[in-house]
Amino acid sequence: MSSKQVTVTAINAFNDNYIWALSNETSDNANNLVLVDPGDAIACIEHIEKHQQVLSAILITHHHHDHVGGIAKLLHYASEKNWSVKVYGPANEKIDHLDITLIENDQVSLPEINGQFSVLDLPGHTKGHIAYVSPEMVFCGDTLFSGGCGRLFEGTPAQMLQSLTKLSNLPDKTSVYCAHEYTQANLAFALAVEPKNTQLQEYATKVNDLRANGLSSIPTNIGLEQQINPFLRCNQASVKLSAQTHAKQILNDPTAVFATIRSWKDNF
Ligand code: ZN
Ligand code: FE
Repeated sequence: MSSKQVTVTAINAFNDNYIWALSNETSDNANNLVLVDPGDAIACIEHIEKHQQVLSAILITHHHHDHVGGIAKLLHYASEKNWSVKVYGPANEKIDHLDITLIENDQVSLPEINGQFSVLDLPGHTKGHIAYVSPEMVFCGDTLFSGGCGRLFEGTPAQMLQSLTKLSNLPDKTSVYCAHEYTQANLAFALAVEPKNTQLQEYATKVNDLRANGLSSIPTNIGLEQQINPFLRCNQASVKLSAQTHAKQILNDPTAVFATIRSWKDNF
């Protein structure tokens, strides 16, 4: 089973969150809905009622409130409708209402949308952060953003670099559904790191146009991120040189380069 026919729609929440809504017109019941990181129940319920859908599962990437804050209210709403909803999430984080806890290589079968995902452990932003991966797409929460990556709230630079490397090793065409529209700010920083990267310059122009027209820059894809995202490019001479100039010292390994640009971005 592949997730090829799965349709992914964004539900906008808070200032810049994307809650991803998964459905499948070719499944037995095209009204079934799976939500990823529903931080805001009201926004999800509006979407459900507008599209007359039936919520069947919730996938959680990590414990932050903007990702889990809507679970309780959605379960209450679903119980009033007599829907049974399975809630999936990371085994290594404390999150209320999880039915199924997941670690790396676990499989998540969602026959109601003809979907199948495998799990990646992505410590760094939080200790137990996970992603949901199919051959076509990845839901990576706050680990990889377009042009950037999540802040290190709980993990080390070495952990986060390893997590980002796992994502970077996915096939180039994999669509990346991250949880925030941070792209413009990320690209402003990326251009400070790599001012001469022409693909980055072109992408920044494209994203500025999209945002000026009120459009999303997400999903991105792995192949593009490898070319423009400094946090996936710690092995590149251009990124290393820029990090060394910023740190005013020689940086001997990619983890030191990563740690330098991550803290540089924190204060950018
Ligand atoms: Zn977060
Ligand atoms: Fe978040």
